[in-house]
Amino acid sequence: MNVCIVGTGYVGLVTGVVFADLGNDVICVDKVQSKVDMLNAGVMPIYEPGLEELVSRNFAEDRLSFTTDIEDAVRRSEVIFIAVGTPPAADGSTDLSYVEAVAMDIAHAMNNYKVVVNKSTVPVGTGDFVRRTIEAHRKDGIPFDVVSNPEFLREGSAISDSMHPDRIVIGAPSRMVAMKLLELYAPLERPMVITDVTSSEMIKYASNAFLAVKITFANAIANICEEAGADVVQVTKGMGLDNRIGPSFLSAGIGYGGSCFPKDTLSLIQTAEQLGYDFEMLKATVRTNSAQPVRFVDRIKTVLGGLEGKTVAVLGLAFKGNTDDLRESKALEVVAALTDAGATVRAFDPVAMEPAKLLFPGVTYCKSAYEAVTGADAVAVVTEWNEFKHLNFERISSLLKGKIVFDGRNLYDPAQVRRNGLAYFGVGRPNHASEVCANGNGSKNGRSPVAAQLATA
Ligand code: NAD
Repeated sequence: MNVCIVGTGYVGLVTGVVFADLGNDVICVDKVQSKVDMLNAGVMPIYEPGLEELVSRNFAEDRLSFTTDIEDAVRRSEVIFIAVGTPPAADGSTDLSYVEAVAMDIAHAMNNYKVVVNKSTVPVGTGDFVRRTIEAHRKDGIPFDVVSNPEFLREGSAISDSMHPDRIVIGAPSRMVAMKLLELYAPLERPMVITDVTSSEMIKYASNAFLAVKITFANAIANICEEAGADVVQVTKGMGLDNRIGPSFLSAGIGYGGSCFPKDTLSLIQTAEQLGYDFEMLKATVRTNSAQPVRFVDRIKTVLGGLEGKTVAVLGLAFKGNTDDLRESKALEVVAALTDAGATVRAFDPVAMEPAKLLFPGVTYCKSAYEAVTGADAVAVVTEWNEFKHLNFERISSLLKGKIVFDGRNLYDPAQVRRNGLAYFGVGRPNHASEVCANGNGSKNGRSPVAAQLATA
């Protein structure tokens, strides 16, 4: 099938290359010339495991091309995917200006019947909005249909998620139109949900909101565990083995971030409000999530006895492991809060340092985790990169000045960290944090929490 994907970002590029790999002829369009030039030169504009090999193979075999010429791409395609950004507007609603611009470009270029597919995450009613926009700008009443086909891939495992999705959701105005997408996705042999456009749009928001609530629930439980002396890692393990609950998205940490959950939760709250429903539960989720990195930095501040003049090594900048995406990264919120409070930050991230340098020029960027911790008063691990999961704590201990580890992602076995002469503070795990919080600057028994930990290690 001849397919065009408009928007060559995390979703558009991965979707395009996967369809090409299934044997379709795919044209990826982007308005940013430099991005298209990079792709035509075999250089990936984003970091995504496995992407480069797949792109270069399909490009070499002439099934995949990159262009800024949307008119030509639309004319040569039967199915056109819209995969541009849908960022949040100032009031939390979704900015649909990129989607609208693409709809107008499609309308101007159309030469025969087209299936226009919304893959961008868009609020309910956007399918109708795209249809009305194309109707208003097309020539000679050329026929078309608008389909909703939300994307569920996760950055960091985007290729595998697109090749083996849990489900494919197709919201179409009729079964006939849905068949076109069914044909495209059939080789993946995955479960399909065929529904109407509005329900399909809602499935995406409901799914993301549910996952955001699930993560936030784990974080709230972690916060209680801290006071109760329970270990949230054990608690969520015990919960997750229940088939009705499941273990994924149930890890406590410094909160969800990234380019989807924060904006999609706000957008759903807005949509609900417009429809006359006060989504109080989701509002509470957003509030709790915002407080989570603040709580983490407060802990660091309390344990270190203030941040002014202190040096903190921060491991991780991306919003999660295996991606270079910094959008709404909680790691960056931690960096900002530390520097605002007067700390010097020495940071390391395996792939996301270049874009971070523009945002935080005052931070010292290091070549490795070990360089970052050298001479620091403490280390804060804030992104779950695989290479951080197996740090050599003996080496860390010899390089760190202050022997304190703040584990914002609960990556480590506290006992193993402590065995190396380090104090360990996780999220929702038994430590001396409750003592710290109880009197603000030390312990109830007069011994500092760090000294107490080291004494019992
Ligand atoms: P992105 O910012 O990485 O990519 C969007 C691309 O669209 C950019 O390259 C931009 O230059 C291009 N673009 C914008 N306007 C254009 C136009 N008029 N013509 C041609 N190209 C244009 O965004 P993304 O992360 O790929 O997200 C795209 C959509 O998919 C969003 O709605 C997002 O919510 C949704 N989504 C994202 C993810 C994810 O993990 N990133 C997962 C599921 C769904």
